[in-house]
Amino acid sequence: MRDRNPARRTPGALLLLASLGACAPSGPSATAPAPQPEAAPARLAYVPVSPALPPIPEADGPLAIRVVHPAPGSPRPRVDSTYVYGSVGTGRAALDINGTPVPVAPNGAFLAFLPLPADGRWTLTARGTGEPVRATVAYAAPPAPRPAAPARPDTMQADTAQGDPVRADSAAPPAAPAAPAAPAFAAQMATAAGGDTLATGSDVAIGRPTPTGTYRWFLPRGARVQVVERRGDQLRVRLDSATSAWFPAGSLELDGPMLPARVELAGGAARLSVTPAAEWVELRFAVQRAPFLVQAADDRLTVTLYGRTAPVPSERPPAGDPLLAGISWRAGTPGRAEAEVRLASPLWGYKAFYTRDGTLVLRVRRPPAIDPAAPLRGVRVAVDPGHPPAGATGPTGLTEAEANLAIGTRLAERLRAAGAEVLLTRTANVPVELGARTDTAVAWDADLLVSVHNNAFGEGVNPFRNHSTAVYYFQPFSAALARELDREIVGVTRIPDLGARQSNLALARPTWMPSALTESLFMLIPEQEAALRDPGFLDRLADAHVRGIEAFLRSRAGGAGAPAR
Ligand SMILES: [Zn+2]
Repeated sequence: MRDRNPARRTPGALLLLASLGACAPSGPSATAPAPQPEAAPARLAYVPVSPALPPIPEADGPLAIRVVHPAPGSPRPRVDSTYVYGSVGTGRAALDINGTPVPVAPNGAFLAFLPLPADGRWTLTARGTGEPVRATVAYAAPPAPRPAAPARPDTMQADTAQGDPVRADSAAPPAAPAAPAAPAFAAQMATAAGGDTLATGSDVAIGRPTPTGTYRWFLPRGARVQVVERRGDQLRVRLDSATSAWFPAGSLELDGPMLPARVELAGGAARLSVTPAAEWVELRFAVQRAPFLVQAADDRLTVTLYGRTAPVPSERPPAGDPLLAGISWRAGTPGRAEAEVRLASPLWGYKAFYTRDGTLVLRVRRPPAIDPAAPLRGVRVAVDPGHPPAGATGPTGLTEAEANLAIGTRLAERLRAAGAEVLLTRTANVPVELGARTDTAVAWDADLLVSVHNNAFGEGVNPFRNHSTAVYYFQPFSAALARELDREIVGVTRIPDLGARQSNLALARPTWMPSALTESLFMLIPEQEAALRDPGFLDRLADAHVRGIEAFLRSRAGGAGAPAR
């Protein structure tokens, strides 16, 4: 569609204009005379912040103000400025917000980044051919002041700040620990209580080095640990003489205070055996449910076994599978044993779980057989269209869930056409919880998991300056998949490139296959929302996802230890 607005300004000039207007005194005050009759304001031309996207189509419906953000009655954010967006129903209207003229896009969408009003009220006035239309959005009454809330960094990891469950599940810090620990806590043994016996990553006990640190330990149901401290709803577990981990209290079942304040952690050598199977190799450590840490790198897995010692040096580690390049024990901190498992080809995935007798099984996955000429043939790809529940909403009401499904279904069609087997975690706009999404992909033995999202911003983030395409991964062996996806997607979105980023997202955490989560565009930017309604653009975005997946698979063709297909 043609841009029918004659004036072209640079986005920078437009922003300057908007902020100057916002700083100027405006509106009646208690002592001011009655407002003057309103002069018809000049329409501000909307200048796309991402001009490489398709032009915004025109819409000319009835003049009606719909504010998507902020929602009426939402808490007043603790920021200087924030964004306000929604639609006025027609691209022919002029709009001001608290006296500041705001551009209206050809489809009636608007997006402004403005100083937070002192009285906590946004008043919007839209003028078309008839009577002006007004709307007011007020924040809830402010709560009693609290001391120093930490400032949110100016990033656009809005899937966090917007309460997107992908982030909320994973990145929301737990309540700050209450000041000093209760002195009376007696050390005691506890059992990991999750429902997950196969370590799909969705319902394990998750530990961190500090109560708000990054996830590090993933203990399946049945792990036995020693708890030495409680702070609020967090329990501190002593793993060895130098290592503690914090777990949510609800993830551990306490035996009861039957231990003295300090006990020696159970000892004994961690005996190891290797059992090859068609689709994987199992390393079995006899450790009686001792807690462990698996660290995955591109070409090796390091298994730390707490409260165990390495077998005597004369006991040679078994090997003898084409997937394994070697296994060695490393001397480390007292009270732990570390096995380094070197692989003959890049790590594809693993599971870590206990058998009934407490043996820790590290199941290392063989790579799929990949034909470089047709890399998707026979490969099993799980495609996860993100949301609902939750997710962002665009200025004219397109939900992120709808946009993600439109991309996901196109992606699935193309992957199938190229010979892949595809599992879609949802095929309609019905809520599917995060755990069910990862569980389905793991239970189906997907070779790859790609979760499709579009982004939003946290309060206080300037959308005109911060938007960019990004692809997230968590496991190091998923970084290459994220990089290939990002390279191809940003070639289509042509907005700034944040690159492949490590982030603690539920859909990026599975260990059984390389997994990545794409954030192509931002729902709230008018032309980005409009592009996500454009079938031709959605096709190109899906094609980019396919090319990224193919490039990753090609780079991994010919992996050692692959089963014949
Ligand atoms: Zn999302």
